[in-house]
Amino acid sequence: MPIPVEVRLGAAPHNREDAVRAAGALLAQAGHALPAYVDSLLQREKLANTFLGQGVAIPHGMIEDRHLVQSTGLAVLQVPAGVRWGDDAKQAHLVVAIAAASDEHIAVLRRLTRLMRDEALMQRLISTHDPEDIVRALTTDGEADAPAPSTLQDFALGREVALSYPNGLHARPAGQWAQTAQRFVAQVHVRYDQVVVDAKNVAALLSLGAGRGATLRLSAQGPDAEEALRALRAIVVRLGEEEARQAQLASFRQSQAQGLGQVLGDWQPAARQTFTGIAASPGLVIGTLVQAAGAVLQVEDHFRSAPLEAEALEQALQAAMAELEAWSTQARGQGQSEQAGIFSAHAGLLRDPRLLQAVSRGIVQGHGAAWAWRQALGERVAAQRALPDATLAARAADLQDAGDRVLHHLLGLPSEAVGGAWPADAILLADDLSPSFTAQIDPARVRGFCTASGGPTAHTAILARALGLPAVVAGGPDLLKADSGTPAILDGYRGRLYVAPSATALIEAQERIEGLARRQAEEARNRLLPATTPDGHTVEIAANVNRADQVARALEAGAEGVGLMRTEFLFLERDTVPDEEAQYLALRAMVEALGGRPLVVRTLDIGGDKQVPHLQLPVEDNPFLGVRGARLALRRDDLLLPQLRALYRAARHGPLQIMFPMISTVEEVLELRRRMAQVREELDAPEVPIGIMIEVPSAALLADRLAAHVDFFSIGTNDLTQYTLAVDRQHPELAAMADSLHPAVLRLVERTVAGARRHGRWVGVCGGLAGEPLGAALLVGLGVDELSMSVGDLGPIKALLRRHRLSELQALAQRALDLDSADEVRALGAALRSADSTEAQA
Ligand code: PEP
Ligand code: MG
Repeated sequence: MPIPVEVRLGAAPHNREDAVRAAGALLAQAGHALPAYVDSLLQREKLANTFLGQGVAIPHGMIEDRHLVQSTGLAVLQVPAGVRWGDDAKQAHLVVAIAAASDEHIAVLRRLTRLMRDEALMQRLISTHDPEDIVRALTTDGEADAPAPSTLQDFALGREVALSYPNGLHARPAGQWAQTAQRFVAQVHVRYDQVVVDAKNVAALLSLGAGRGATLRLSAQGPDAEEALRALRAIVVRLGEEEARQAQLASFRQSQAQGLGQVLGDWQPAARQTFTGIAASPGLVIGTLVQAAGAVLQVEDHFRSAPLEAEALEQALQAAMAELEAWSTQARGQGQSEQAGIFSAHAGLLRDPRLLQAVSRGIVQGHGAAWAWRQALGERVAAQRALPDATLAARAADLQDAGDRVLHHLLGLPSEAVGGAWPADAILLADDLSPSFTAQIDPARVRGFCTASGGPTAHTAILARALGLPAVVAGGPDLLKADSGTPAILDGYRGRLYVAPSATALIEAQERIEGLARRQAEEARNRLLPATTPDGHTVEIAANVNRADQVARALEAGAEGVGLMRTEFLFLERDTVPDEEAQYLALRAMVEALGGRPLVVRTLDIGGDKQVPHLQLPVEDNPFLGVRGARLALRRDDLLLPQLRALYRAARHGPLQIMFPMISTVEEVLELRRRMAQVREELDAPEVPIGIMIEVPSAALLADRLAAHVDFFSIGTNDLTQYTLAVDRQHPELAAMADSLHPAVLRLVERTVAGARRHGRWVGVCGGLAGEPLGAALLVGLGVDELSMSVGDLGPIKALLRRHRLSELQALAQRALDLDSADEVRALGAALRSADSTEAQA
């Protein structure tokens, strides 16, 4: 199946953030990702430059946010005038945002990097008025998709390495490989299969399309070739650990988001035979196996006359296309846009001129239309299947399926509903299930799917997810030998099929199914209830939201207020400084959207990683340690005073609390309070609670002193981590060290809470740790009163807190404080999960 591509032509975003937001919104509208994925795209832009070269940028989300991806898809924003990407003068003209459920995007990246070699084509794509041009270029096999004739060769000095990255070689690690290679004078090459590329070129590395398990040969030549090879190999291996850690976090979050994978724990039901495949759609069911291979159609070669055969072919084609379009419309009407897309794509495949020419030739040579069609179709399917690109080869099944539709009509066979004789609890087994077969089955009779081949992105998986049925794919050919009628358990969480399970296993499975159903129902029901632990402790749960139009979605997802509104966005999204009135209107809209619920607005946090070109601030050698956040506010009344005025004016319309970022001393707070008092007096405005962010170790250590002067704290764990561990949060090589679960960071959280308590102040956390399951558990255990997070994390975190007693979280937090490393703390997640599964089975 080609990856679905959404295109918006002629876009004119103000800046990079705007462009990323627009492309992210396209992904969300198309149902490829939840709206919160936009934040993840923006977070990635903070950490890495996603500019690929030749006017192409590829925003993609953070690996740990993969649970926000609903299905793989691309969104392309065509920006004819270009938008500046990063600090240098790079202009992006095609912004290709990626939502990748697995590693399928590797194939897209490879195609993209190969397209980039064709300058004329790139120019056409930048200026075309037909979105199909872009879709075709990204999804259709063509010359550009073929590997470049490799002009490079391996050098004599080299070594092999296996790529262990769960998501293949994607943009982030490729960037780091290139950076490492660039440090050396030697030429460094990487071979994958038949293709050899320059390791110093990110686009070339991505063009390899190396997936998980690929064997690569690294080779080098030049004065420092040995060192270059050693360094490159070291980074390849080291990033493997980081990629695996991220993937683990992603899957933990995914199971939390699906709500339920952990209920299964280490359960191993006894069965006559167990098949392990790939989990393609979540769910656990008990059912009866049904081999669902379609009957092979018998075709005889009956020729009447060329005009009659041609007429029959034309009618069959029209009928098949009408049928596919009708299924597509029906699916769209049921909100299953991906399924609808599959059927439209099939209708498109039937218009393939090469196929039609071959059939016409057959008819002219005196063959019946059905026979000629089957012949030509068979050849095209075989050619497609032989393509080296797995994604393209997988489309052979689509072609076969669409072609069989036509054959049905040519043979005058009715498209009757399939599965009339199946049991009402069928678990369908097949090599792969065709979309048209699946479209005709009665979902009420099917409990799940399990296929011998296919991958997590195969249409079986897509359709199963659309129907809400569990599916396992790539279970292996022996699956097709299992007898119809045998009882089985299908586990779509962990990708297993248990054939002929023992009586005990069936009872255990039933208990787990009921546990899962209870958990799911509870999460849905309790989304809007407070996050109260079983021993009665309530934590306030808020969302990090910057715009009034995002508030409704946050409330619907369970937010009880907004714990962090980053006001920089007002400055970053335009070319001039917003005046007091513009800021007031944005803030007032936010207050009104919240209808009396709490709102914490953070004043401008510019500097460090957040640069606003139109402010023309002096360039600093070390911006993270420079004039940033509150330090800038204190030096620039022209920025601070209009913002404070806007805030006090907005506060007349509903509750609002003001918070200052990057506080590192008591004097800063006192000075800010003085200016606030002046502004409030001038406006005769109401009192507003004042808080500060704790994101610098000095502030955490002085929490008891600072608490005397403010009403609340909100801990910014992103910055607190970077300043505590002295790791630039954007550093390409070190960013992984900036782990907020580090005991050093947790100790500062503990100290902050203790300082706040001395003056009866509340403490929130609005950094990324608040939205991580283990992070949230530990923060609550350390005494934090409020957690503010991305919208996508709200439901799972609320549910998690409702499952664990405060006393348990406190004990867990005390254990974490006494550990040596972030990895050791992360391992405590297992304790949390096993407590989860014991409870679910009870
Ligand atoms: C933080 O540092 O944790 C935080 C919430 O602020 P930002 O990510 O905007 O710097
Ligand atoms: Mg911060």
